[in-house]
Amino acid sequence: MSGRPTVFDRLLWRVNFLPRDSALRFQPRIAAGIFGFHLLALLACIPWLFDWSAVALVPLGMYLFGTLGINIGFHRLLTHRGFECPRWLECALTVLGVCCREGTPLSWVAIHRMHHQHSDDPTDPHTPKASFFWSHVGWFLVYDPAVWSISTYDRYVRDLLRDRFIKKLEKPRTQQRILLAQFAVFLALGAIVGALVHGSWLGALQMSLSWLVWGVFVRTVVVWHVTWSVNSLTHMWGYRNYNTHDDSRNNLFVGLVSNGEGWHNNHHAQPRAAAHGHRWWEFDVSFITIWGLEKLGLAWNVVRPKPRADVTPVTGSGAESHPTEAVVPAPVTAPVEVAVVAAPTVPAGPGSAA
Ligand SMILES: [Zn+2]
Ligand SMILES: [Zn+2]
Repeated sequence: MSGRPTVFDRLLWRVNFLPRDSALRFQPRIAAGIFGFHLLALLACIPWLFDWSAVALVPLGMYLFGTLGINIGFHRLLTHRGFECPRWLECALTVLGVCCREGTPLSWVAIHRMHHQHSDDPTDPHTPKASFFWSHVGWFLVYDPAVWSISTYDRYVRDLLRDRFIKKLEKPRTQQRILLAQFAVFLALGAIVGALVHGSWLGALQMSLSWLVWGVFVRTVVVWHVTWSVNSLTHMWGYRNYNTHDDSRNNLFVGLVSNGEGWHNNHHAQPRAAAHGHRWWEFDVSFITIWGLEKLGLAWNVVRPKPRADVTPVTGSGAESHPTEAVVPAPVTAPVEVAVVAAPTVPAGPGSAA
């Protein structure tokens, strides 16, 4: 996929965004998708599309899609296996994560496991040591053959490659259908509520479009930036509870807006722990949700953090000094089923969080 450099690549060489003559290639389709969603979100500035019910969909959607889908589904369940749950719930959480358009489950999990193993090393896919922009958004605007290869999937997500449901979600057609379903649901529900409230076709149309803009476009962009902030801000600013080998930090702002993902130093010290908040003030809505599921009998084998005194300080550098709990499958040499795995077609998150 690397291929010959395009005019975009040469331009990025010139401004030193990409190393000259490197194998990295700018991905205009992903950049256009990111830019397009930001433009669509700006439709929220049109007064005719303002409605308080639509605005309320943003925090609700951040919880439904961002917290349940990304934090709990993609991150704490699929990536780190911090708990177990019924199969139907795992599938539902995964689909909610896909709705965020932060990459497919396989790409998200692979990149995030790679990040844990090489955190803030030169081979970290999104370390802010390169630059804030790179860690926040730049890294997934380029195709890096060293990252997006079959061997990456083989090494980091071999467990998920056996999952037929996960593999179905890799197909671009499935991703498109999920996106269109989101559009349809928000348009339809907005139209019904608008008709009931205003009692007119115009009122139904106004509410319908308002719910689409705020409930899908604005919410998606907000969830993106929250996730991307975990990659960028929490490796730059904040305090540390643990002496990990990387630059991970507990960032109060990201911790609160992300519903718990910003307690990132805690997470790098104990990656499998389903709770990222380890001190009483480190509020973790994602873990509270998992705890609630546990009480309802919908989650079990929930991995709790060890007392801080029992966590061995990590003072070295490099993968060999990684937290001992890192969930990275052992390297394998035999090829596995990777037919549906391709280079990313949508932006990846911690991957694209955390
Ligand atoms: Zn993680
Ligand atoms: Zn990190």
